[in-house]
Amino acid sequence: MSGNYAWRKSDTIFTNDPSTDGAMYVGVILGSDKTTVSVATGHVEYHPLYLSIGNPHNSVRRAHRNAVTPIGFLAIPKADRKYDNDVHFRTFKRQLYHSSIAAILQPLRAPMTTPIVRQCPDGHFRRVIYDLAAFIADYPEQVMLAGIVQNWCAKCTALPEDLDGSTAERRTREYTEVLVETLTSDVLWDQYGIDDDVVPFTNDFPRADIHEMISPDLLHQVIKGCFKDHLVTWTCKYLEEIHGEARANEIIDDIDHRIAATPAFPGLRRFPHGRRFKQWTGDDSKALMKVYIPAIVEYVPVQLIECFSSFLDFCYLVRRSELGEDTIDKIVAALQHFHETREIFRESGVRPKGFALPRQHSLVHYVRLIQEYGAPNGLCSSITESRHITAVKKPWRRSNRYEALGQMLLTNQRLDKLAAARVEFVARGLLPPSHLPPPTRNSFNFVDGADEGAENDAPDMYLVEGSVILARTPQRGYPRSLETLAAHIRQPKLPLLARHFLFNQLHPNYEHDVHLIPADELPIIDTPIAVFHSAIATFSAPSDISGTHGMRRESIRCTPSWRRKDPRHDCVFIVEDQEKTGMRGMIIGRVKLFFSFHFEGVTYPCVLIDRFSRMGRGPDSVTGMWKVKPEITGAHGARVQSVEHVDTILRSAHLIPVFGSGPLPDGFHFAHSLDVFNSYYVNKYADHHAHEIVF
Ligand SMILES: [Zn+2]
Repeated sequence: MSGNYAWRKSDTIFTNDPSTDGAMYVGVILGSDKTTVSVATGHVEYHPLYLSIGNPHNSVRRAHRNAVTPIGFLAIPKADRKYDNDVHFRTFKRQLYHSSIAAILQPLRAPMTTPIVRQCPDGHFRRVIYDLAAFIADYPEQVMLAGIVQNWCAKCTALPEDLDGSTAERRTREYTEVLVETLTSDVLWDQYGIDDDVVPFTNDFPRADIHEMISPDLLHQVIKGCFKDHLVTWTCKYLEEIHGEARANEIIDDIDHRIAATPAFPGLRRFPHGRRFKQWTGDDSKALMKVYIPAIVEYVPVQLIECFSSFLDFCYLVRRSELGEDTIDKIVAALQHFHETREIFRESGVRPKGFALPRQHSLVHYVRLIQEYGAPNGLCSSITESRHITAVKKPWRRSNRYEALGQMLLTNQRLDKLAAARVEFVARGLLPPSHLPPPTRNSFNFVDGADEGAENDAPDMYLVEGSVILARTPQRGYPRSLETLAAHIRQPKLPLLARHFLFNQLHPNYEHDVHLIPADELPIIDTPIAVFHSAIATFSAPSDISGTHGMRRESIRCTPSWRRKDPRHDCVFIVEDQEKTGMRGMIIGRVKLFFSFHFEGVTYPCVLIDRFSRMGRGPDSVTGMWKVKPEITGAHGARVQSVEHVDTILRSAHLIPVFGSGPLPDGFHFAHSLDVFNSYYVNKYADHHAHEIVF
């Protein structure tokens, strides 16, 4: 509700009735989606309707703390098969759907024009004006909601044969009403895509407009829809079209092997057997997005890779939790580039008829929708989908399966009461709070300011931009002196590099090359060395799934046997020049050892890394990703190493090999991926934080 919509509607409400001055605007967000619970004996379908309001932050809504709540289970009318295509039955189903929603929302109708007094979570009483603001639904449900004909757009009147190309009017309630009054049903159906048999539920409520309310749906439209169902499928078809089926299958197999050879990364789902699953989830699609581009390079033309990279940029940009004017410009540019480059599918015969796909078309409405409703990250069907689990699936499992709905409603009611009781007990000090209170607005602005006085009692944790610390306890069984440790882990350069590091720490303004200093002038480290197998990076990543305050923690591993198997040495971003933005100020290091030592009363937590240096002055023009290569020295190609303070680590980095043109050898294991290739992509699609820092 940080967008234009809430402001405009507030103005309208005030202009219509100045007595509403000072009332709080509460935008109602609805969402509904069918879901199936299954048993061995068959499937049972439910159609829950959820309600949320626009006042809490997106992060609260995503935290599943009852900010989205089921308010009804809609009827799913069933009839004999002979009525499947019956027009009257179809109209009946649609009208029942709309009438049910209108009936459920009836209690909100009076407070939509006359303010009603309500107690808010902060304990204060406020006069509240309700307003229907947004509806989250997938495309089939949008068709039913907006009263449009299948394959038309619910937001505009673009012709279904040429959704993205034709000039289209924005649909509004007034526009539809004028058309319905003047034209016949046949004309409406054929030329405007309007089904005038149905009266939308919004007509029962003041100011509500279903065409405006339909909100973007990242999960179904962007992640599952465009990426997996369209682009990935089309790429396989493209390969068949160009190479014939047999060769295409070989290539697709190698693409699968490459995906399986992608190095491990925190939070990255692995595809150990390629990606041939029967049931694709949204999480699978998200995981594939992160690793797909490097796997298809060299097998498809440049234009097709650009198509993927511009689409992924669009996708990562719209999923950010904060969007400014410059982000909007980037979104527009990415979408335009995507529209240009996807023509390759039309030209190659994969999509001879073009791209008349309502879900893909919906992308053109995103910019306006972001301006209207703010970041779409918290307003998407992934929220209703995850609520299905707690509101439908789990209560169903608790029931005895016989006429389960009544039992499920009772379960939900009792869980709500328990949650409310818990809140009450916490408020009275009878129970400890299960979550920290959300930060106040001041604490966000406090990051660099010393101007706030003692009245700001925000905890220190919000003041921290991010940090990296070594694991709490050192590992046992390592030699304690630098020289024997170096021999033990076969890193002979360690003692000298550590002394160079210490010299730099003691002389931060030394301008010459430390490598030229004679060894006897370097400080001597003779205190015991502690070795660690991991470090914890904490950083602010509000766009990703993160803690309540947008802080996220991840482990960086450096261990000789990960899960009792192969060694694991993660990669990290090392900040070398804070003046430069993005990758230009960073290098990539592969962690060979986390250790710490004391010198003159100071503890130095450090990391020994194999260095990777940037290739070129900017990201690779085709994939949009920076490339790095192992830094080597001397005639034998020894790896360049250095010891760095852990403070210079930003977080872990994900490298994906530049696979080159040939197929991977049989049985190649991903544990070796970081050792054997000549160059690597710095994966900016690893997560949203990576997309924001790697540019
Ligand atoms: Zn449209």
